[in-house]
Amino acid sequence: MRFSLTRSLGYLVGGLWTGWGGRKRIEAKQLRNLRRLVEKARRDSPLFRMLYADLPRSREIKLRDLPVTRKPDLMREFASWLTIRSLPLERARGHLRDIRKVGVPIDDVAVFQTSGTSGEPAVIVLSSSFVEYAYGIMMARFEPYHWKLIRDVRKLGVRVTITGGHGHFAGNGFNKLVQRLYPVLAKGLGLTVIEAEQPIDRIVARLNAISNVAWVVTYPSMLSILTKEKEAGRLQIAPALFTTGGETLTDDLRVRVGRAFPSLKYGISDPYGSTECLALSFECSHGRKHVNEDWVILEAVDEAMQPVPDGTLSATVLLTVLANEVQPFIRYDLGDCVRFHEEPCPCGSPFRSFQVQGRQATLVRIGEVALSPLVFDLEHERARRIQLVQTSDKEFEVRIQLADEAAAEPVFREVIASVKQVFRENGLDEVTVRESEASPEFTASGKFHHVLPLRRSGSVT
Ligand SMILES: [Zn+2]
Repeated sequence: MRFSLTRSLGYLVGGLWTGWGGRKRIEAKQLRNLRRLVEKARRDSPLFRMLYADLPRSREIKLRDLPVTRKPDLMREFASWLTIRSLPLERARGHLRDIRKVGVPIDDVAVFQTSGTSGEPAVIVLSSSFVEYAYGIMMARFEPYHWKLIRDVRKLGVRVTITGGHGHFAGNGFNKLVQRLYPVLAKGLGLTVIEAEQPIDRIVARLNAISNVAWVVTYPSMLSILTKEKEAGRLQIAPALFTTGGETLTDDLRVRVGRAFPSLKYGISDPYGSTECLALSFECSHGRKHVNEDWVILEAVDEAMQPVPDGTLSATVLLTVLANEVQPFIRYDLGDCVRFHEEPCPCGSPFRSFQVQGRQATLVRIGEVALSPLVFDLEHERARRIQLVQTSDKEFEVRIQLADEAAAEPVFREVIASVKQVFRENGLDEVTVRESEASPEFTASGKFHHVLPLRRSGSVT
């Protein structure tokens, strides 16, 4: 696997040219890229050859001609999904089991795993051209604001990533891959990684030991924990920038973080991406997320997979990654709910912008009722972390990590009363909520979910 700076610059120049041409040029480029990918998938992926057997010729194909694809179906046929024949699933899984090989390529490709927040973890395969694309397109979408931000933050100190350390996740692996392929690109950004799974005291101590933390990259759930530690006076860092990803960042948390960290000159950057497509969107100087539409297609659809109008919240979103020719993601059901903005963005970008409302998979379902995890107030001044776990259709347990020297009984009593109140307000009087001695737990990739819905059959979280 080799990184070519020339090809990356090609993506940069091409990306600028497309953006300058406005909607017409963007849509033309997208269609050309789509037809090229469809042709490649038909030629070199046995699975897609079969799937597309009865469709029109590739040079006449339109997006809506193509069937929706889903993770479990694709993963079942992993080896024939890829357009290369040298990576059977067992070989990929063997590589992923070896934690020393995070960010190490297999032949000409890099392999990552998804966190499995929404079910079965997928194995993601990237070629060097995807890495070239990711860097080139990111720079093509930079405004002067972003260049200034990068310069300032580098001057102020180091970047620290807090993420799951027990797997080949893009959060800890992509930087390692880039450092291996082209060290200059990773230079100055630092590669300090703190494992999210360790006790909070230890994370706080590690952060406090670094004298100049300027930039912290992590999940919103970890940011919420850090904010609490900062409010309590235990965390001393004064970063200028947070970058979050992997979960939904709520407005409430944004406000709280701003209050707790007055040093945040550049606020919170929350670009939307996934392991399936790391460079899916960019966040502009007005804080909106824009799709890199020349290389990515994001379709907001309803439950019947039909498009919803701009301004309407979708049931899910279909992702097409035009820059990954090794593992075709074409109309892939990503499971997130999004809403495209109706009004153009004040930044002037011709690329469409959208909001993310979080994953369907995190909704709690009790009989016919679905509740957002955000309706529960799982905060208590004498607890460091609280987790609500659904153990059966109508049974929940509360897990609490107490603050130092707090008595457990009153904290449990108050939290359980507040949870039951939410259920009652939603007509769910028969739900039981009990206290648990277990500690709140992280997901495999180091995310912390305040609410863990019941694991449905077939899903591995
Ligand atoms: Zn914008």
